[in-house]
Amino acid sequence: KSEEINQENEERIKEGTASITTFGSVFYNPVQEFNRDLSISVINVYIQQILNTKNSITKEGNPSLVENKSEVEPDITILEALAASGLRSIRYARELDGNKKIIANDISKKAVESMESNINGNNVANIVETSHSDAILLMHKHKQKGKQFDIIDLDPYGCPSIFLDSAVQAVKDNGLLLVTATDMAILAGNSPETCYAKYGSVSLKIKSCHEMALRILLQCIESHANRYGSKLSMVYHCTGCGTFVLQPLGEIRTNNKNEQVKFGLPTVSVAMPLCNHCGQRYHMGGPIWSAPIHSSEFVKQVLDSASDKLKTYKRIQGVLSVVLEEISDSPLYFTLEKLAGTLHVETPPMMAIRSAILNAGYQVSFTHTNKTGIKTNAPATVIWDIMRCW
Ligand code: SAM
Repeated sequence: KSEEINQENEERIKEGTASITTFGSVFYNPVQEFNRDLSISVINVYIQQILNTKNSITKEGNPSLVENKSEVEPDITILEALAASGLRSIRYARELDGNKKIIANDISKKAVESMESNINGNNVANIVETSHSDAILLMHKHKQKGKQFDIIDLDPYGCPSIFLDSAVQAVKDNGLLLVTATDMAILAGNSPETCYAKYGSVSLKIKSCHEMALRILLQCIESHANRYGSKLSMVYHCTGCGTFVLQPLGEIRTNNKNEQVKFGLPTVSVAMPLCNHCGQRYHMGGPIWSAPIHSSEFVKQVLDSASDKLKTYKRIQGVLSVVLEEISDSPLYFTLEKLAGTLHVETPPMMAIRSAILNAGYQVSFTHTNKTGIKTNAPATVIWDIMRCW
């Protein structure tokens, strides 16, 4: 009976240079084409970096090897831990540079059968090998040096956190981990308790929730990758005016009884002063990753080298151009409408506020996660002064 259903639901799909058949319950999400296009653009830059490093080491160490290109190219190993139809792995095999070996794994037997037929249909059986296993067990088998992967791609249903512990061990030092999370509602503050249970962080429903979502995911990866809290902070968000304060995890502070306490951990209860801009209480969220979320140099390389043949090329260009201009070391942002709404004034033009911040001697930028977001390293007092003078 299931065969019949699968036959009925069979669908031919073309994406990038791959052409696959999905049938029955095997997962395919066309909305994720941008995700796959962007992953290809990013991995190609990463592979180029590995090739350049290898080439320069080989040139210095043994100039004779440079002549024979195949010997200096590394074997890039890629694990797609949750591969469904195999579409992503097939596209990686066909659209990534360099010599590579890809393992496409899935726990579902139907998915593995579907992958095998798609891999053969796209002539990439010499590059992509299938695996029918629980991704966590498979990655645990690859945690020793020599067996680790250069690149691991995690694209689960919803939350990726159960796979992170094994993934960070199965990826090489300086390897590349690509993580997709599709449960944005949880990460963006709709269910802070679920977010804490899944990601070990309390989400906040605030204007900058989409950047906060990214930073919650990054702190979750970081907390599996190493146990130091140096790049993590708690977020205190004023319930009145929306001003936010970041408190690095583990920082020593004095509470209202003048006792020294390790501040910032969600289990420690410390009386927080009221917001000094409006006198309201703070809501606590986090921890979040509070170090930069992108390297400008890397983003520029992806922007310069992404193929204009990708269907979502224009969107990649648009998003990455904003990311490139984005201040990387000032977490979260204000939004114009919230600032104006709090002061009950008309929303000023974005350019006027940006110029005022620049004239006051601070950096300012847009954010790729919100069209009306104002990212700045100016203290909240400066922002409120500018808004009041407007
Ligand atoms: N990466 C695919 C793509 O780009 O088309 C989509 C993957 S789909 C969102 C998630 C897949 O994870 C499903 O095919 C499911 O069978 C598989 N899966 C769920 N839990 C798993 C586990 N523990 N180990 C391996 N695969 C798993």
